[in-house]
Amino acid sequence: MQELRSPLLTETGIRLLVKRDDLLALSENGGFCGNKWRKLQYNLLEAHAQGKKRLLTFGGAFSNHIAAVAEAGQSFGFETIGVIRGEEPAEPSHTLQLAADRGMQLHYTSRSEFRQKNDPEWVSALLVKFGDSYILPEGGTNKLALDGCRDLVEEIRLQCVNALPDYYCMACGTGGTLAGVIAALNGQAKAIGFSALKGRFMHDAVAQLLSEYGANTFDQWKIQDDYHFGGYAKTPPELFSFMDAFYNQHGIPLDRVYTAKLFFGLFNLIEKGYFEPGSVIMAIHTGGLQGNS
Ligand SMILES: *Cc1c(COP(=O)(O)O)cnc(C)c1O
Repeated sequence: MQELRSPLLTETGIRLLVKRDDLLALSENGGFCGNKWRKLQYNLLEAHAQGKKRLLTFGGAFSNHIAAVAEAGQSFGFETIGVIRGEEPAEPSHTLQLAADRGMQLHYTSRSEFRQKNDPEWVSALLVKFGDSYILPEGGTNKLALDGCRDLVEEIRLQCVNALPDYYCMACGTGGTLAGVIAALNGQAKAIGFSALKGRFMHDAVAQLLSEYGANTFDQWKIQDDYHFGGYAKTPPELFSFMDAFYNQHGIPLDRVYTAKLFFGLFNLIEKGYFEPGSVIMAIHTGGLQGNS
């Protein structure tokens, strides 16, 4: 955990702490898995309990989830199958190369075929092809993933015994991490999700996850929909400038798909006087740095 210092924070009387989940790694030489480790942890225990030898999951060519599953498979002795959206490229992305190097078998599918990823019939056919497997959804969000995000909140509470955060802020893709955090907070602090996607659907997506999880949804949480910078993985020059300045000032690298947009939005809200003076804000650095390469 790291506290940020800046003239703006001093002026506004706000404490901004960063939970460095970007430093979560499965081994000394391994890659960093960020929030994808939180989401995988209990799924791996469940896969093991079910006697599964193989993990099968879905994702795009730049998916941090694909990278994390490949890493986890190698570290804990599961075979891994990655069903990838889109035809095989002439030159694999850094993420897919990394996944293949860690032993993941990559299965390319057309975009239209990939859309069937939640269709039980298509998934059964994949299991016939690749053998019995533990299935992880795209992005890794399921009930056990939300359980893993509770551990994140527990850790933060232990690290902040003297001044518990008033706000928990994080970037959202599927909204699974945010939903897990909201459920764990149980109304005792506010949570804000910064959507990395264009559109205004994230609030409903998170509400849906909370209801499937059986959590009280409360009203102690919000989505910020205006910091997507043009859409998922869109990176205008302004965002790169922000990432460079942030790194120079605080020594923390950000990824361009999620956490750069989170911190940009957060500082923008602080400038606009969104938070009461004296607030303690916990920003969760969910990782994703492998995707910068
Ligand atoms: C996947 C990811 C997210 C989004 O997490 P969700 O649980 O899908 O909302 C945020 N940050 C990083 C770095 C990620 O890799």
